[in-house]
Amino acid sequence: MILTDFHTHSRCSVDGTASIYDMANAAAQKGISIMCITDHVDIDNFETGKKQHDCFAHWEKMLREYAEAKDRLKGQIDLRLGIELGEASHNPEDSLMISQTNGLDFIIGSMHNVKDTPDFCCIDYKSQQHCGELIEKYIEEHFELVRLGCFDVLGHIGYTRRYMKRSGFDIGLAGFEDRLGELFRLLCESGKGIELNTSGIRDGTGTAFPEKGILKLYHEAGGEIITVGSDSHRTADVGANIADGYELLREAGFRYVTVFRDRKPEFIKL
Ligand SMILES: [Zn+2]
Ligand SMILES: [Zn+2]
Repeated sequence: MILTDFHTHSRCSVDGTASIYDMANAAAQKGISIMCITDHVDIDNFETGKKQHDCFAHWEKMLREYAEAKDRLKGQIDLRLGIELGEASHNPEDSLMISQTNGLDFIIGSMHNVKDTPDFCCIDYKSQQHCGELIEKYIEEHFELVRLGCFDVLGHIGYTRRYMKRSGFDIGLAGFEDRLGELFRLLCESGKGIELNTSGIRDGTGTAFPEKGILKLYHEAGGEIITVGSDSHRTADVGANIADGYELLREAGFRYVTVFRDRKPEFIKL
């Protein structure tokens, strides 16, 4: 079994802690064969009102760190370069420009806050209904993102549950299947995919993002492109629950996991 981790953060992200080399070295020690570093590039920061281009603010340094890590770990791990592009649809012009950067293997398109609203981690959730309304907005904004198309896979769909559950509202994506089915069909027509993000398995949410029922929905909509990632921000978490993620994929009917090189999908048998 070839283990892959396609969602990892180094200290080139504001919330990262370790160097690219340390993250990749830890992954290699844990038996990960192919890893992509996907540091944050957040387009919309509601709190500061500023564009927070994170690793793009010091891209040359990032490239040097990446090249050094790749070189030092040659033969131990196949290291690739990506970004997690947040809220791309809030600034299409910048997002399209960033997505055309040379040398990128992979782009995760994530949504951490809907328009004019704080990051999901920082919302004071009032009620079940409040949560439901936010999830609806969250799903609708994904349509804009898919139409814009400056990414390869949609990141951690349904990770809203992590924060809602902490506030006492354990609400997943059940009940939103009709609209999500439409979203997945549009996604497939556009030649894009989703990721299975395993961070929810270890963080107390108790489910991967997306959850199993939604994973099946994506498969039934014709979805074949799917990467698996730990969303690790420290060496202890890199590669975490990847094998569990593969099992979830098999259970949902997938036969392949996807990796990317030069923004093109490659399929690895599960
Ligand atoms: Zn994210
Ligand atoms: Zn992430």
